[in-house]
Amino acid sequence: MSAVVPGWRCRWCRSDRGTVVLDLGAQPASDLFPEPEAPAPDPVHPLRMVMCDRCRLAQLEEDPTGPEVPRGVEPAALVAQARAGVADLVAGGLLGPGTWAAEMRSPHGGSWLERVQEIVPDAVLLDGHGTVPGLAADLVVDSLGLMHEADQRAAWDLRLDSLAPDGVLALHVHPLSVIVRDGTWNALRHGHFAYYSLTVLVEMARSTGLVPVGLWRYPLYGGTRLLALAREGSEPARAHAGSAGELVATELAAEAAAGATEPRAVAVLQRQVARSAAALRDWLDESTGKVVAYGAASRAVALFALAGVTADDVLAVVDASPAKRGRAMPGGPGPRVPVLGADILAEVRPDKVLLLVPDLLDEVRSAHPEVEGLGGRWVVAEPEPVEVEPLSRDRGRRR
Ligand SMILES: [Zn+2]
Repeated sequence: MSAVVPGWRCRWCRSDRGTVVLDLGAQPASDLFPEPEAPAPDPVHPLRMVMCDRCRLAQLEEDPTGPEVPRGVEPAALVAQARAGVADLVAGGLLGPGTWAAEMRSPHGGSWLERVQEIVPDAVLLDGHGTVPGLAADLVVDSLGLMHEADQRAAWDLRLDSLAPDGVLALHVHPLSVIVRDGTWNALRHGHFAYYSLTVLVEMARSTGLVPVGLWRYPLYGGTRLLALAREGSEPARAHAGSAGELVATELAAEAAAGATEPRAVAVLQRQVARSAAALRDWLDESTGKVVAYGAASRAVALFALAGVTADDVLAVVDASPAKRGRAMPGGPGPRVPVLGADILAEVRPDKVLLLVPDLLDEVRSAHPEVEGLGGRWVVAEPEPVEVEPLSRDRGRRR
C-alpha cells in the first residue's frame, strides 16, 4: 500500500492523508470505445482507489478522463431492481399516494421514476429535478448516482436542497464490503468517484442531519443496498428510525467484522486483480474453438487490458447497444476486438460465449437460446471464468 499523489484531497472530508488500497496501473478510459481502425494502443490514465485516513471513504484518486457517457441499454435486471426498490419503499410506508418524487440521474440508467409512476399512479414526477435544486420532493431517489459525483460534499448538498422537510432520500448503492467480499476489483473505474461502505455512508448522512429510516438488500451485482434516509426529528424519522436503526446496526457490525473501513482489509482486492487476469489469460489460451464475448461493459475494459485480450483470443464482443456496435474494445497492441450486434451469435456459432456482465446471465440466456441450441456454452468471466451448465432440454422448452 502506498501514499496518495501530492495535492490529493478527500472528496468528502478534504483531508490530505489517504492510503492507496487498489492500483490497476495505467488503464484506458472505461467509456472509450474507439473506432476499429483507430491507432493502437489507446491513451491510458492512472486508475487507483484511495481510502481516506480520516473519514475512511474509499474513492477514485484522480480522474483525468471525461465524464462517463451513457451509451448502454437498460438491462431487464435493472428495471426489475428499480421495481423491487420502489415496491419496498411503498411497503415500508415511505412512499404513498400523491408523493412528489424526484430522481438524481445515473449513467447506469434504470429510471426509478418510471417505476414510481407504475406503482404509485398519482405520484407527481419532478422530471429533470436532479439538475434543478430548490424544488422540494417528498422522495429523492438516487440509484447508483452518488458514486459518479467527483465532489461528494457538493453532491450531498444538492440532494439535501432537493428534499422536503419530511422527505425521504433513497440511496441505492453497491457497498464496498460486497465488492471486497466478491473480489470484484473492476468496480474500480474512471468516473466512479466513491465506493461506500454502509458504515461511511451512514456517517456521511448523519453529518448532514439525516438518519436511516429503511434498509433493504438485493442480489444485484452480488448484493446492493437501498438505504432510506430522512431528517432527524422529521415525520418519517419518528415513525421508522427505530426499526431501521436495528437493521443498520446489524449491517455495520458485519462490516466492522470484515474490516470494511480498514485499508489493509480492502487492499485484498489487489490480489484478485492478478488472479482474474491470469485466470482469463489461461482460460483463453486453453480454449479450443470459437470464443465470442458478451457485454461491451466499461467494467470489462481493465480486465481485457490486463489479460492482454485481442481479436486473436476473442472474435468479437456482442453488445445490445446500437451506440457501441461497429466500435472496438479499447486496448493495447494487437488486433482490436470489434463490438458487434447479437445477430453474429447465430452466424458465428461460437463454442464459448464469455459473459462479461454476470448479472445478465438469465436474461441473455433466454434472449439467445441459439447459443446453447447450436452447442455453445455460456461462460461467466468474473472473477475467474466458470462454464455454465447447459439447461436440460425439458427445462429449455419450458422457458
Ligand atoms: Zn475523508
